[in-house]
Amino acid sequence: MKCFCGLNKSFEECCGAVISGEKIALNPEELMRSRYSAYVIADGSYLVKSATKEHRYEDDILLIEEFCKNVKWLKLELLHASQNEFDGIVEFKAYYLENSEIVLLHERSDFIKSDGIWEYDKGSFINSKIERNDLCPCGSGLKYKKCKKHLIAY
Ligand SMILES: [Zn+2]
Ligand SMILES: [Zn+2]
Repeated sequence: MKCFCGLNKSFEECCGAVISGEKIALNPEELMRSRYSAYVIADGSYLVKSATKEHRYEDDILLIEEFCKNVKWLKLELLHASQNEFDGIVEFKAYYLENSEIVLLHERSDFIKSDGIWEYDKGSFINSKIERNDLCPCGSGLKYKKCKKHLIAY
């Protein structure tokens, strides 16, 4: 069984435990993974709560949930994660399906540790595209340029 974030653990043991507060994220990577999974389950409150105070907007909860209900998350690719004592960086690619189109979100996120808790500070987008010869992010096993499976996936 796999968690939404891609690790070989159940959601309950992996990101679910961080989202529910049962477990605290030990590093920026764990927090980032839990935030990705929160997007998958459309948990806007957690996404707002896990951001730094400066970037915590209660009004975003509904907007995030609305957005999540209209897309289907396909996968997370973690590209880089590093940390110092009080801050860290995670670079990732996340893929989702929106109106039968696969959207690639390539982001470099900044995390800050405040009172012993890692929080998401902000992210910057990196312009990237899915290469035609890459395997399709929908998981069909076909090359992206040839894949039509995700067109009927939802
Ligand atoms: Zn996970
Ligand atoms: Zn596909």
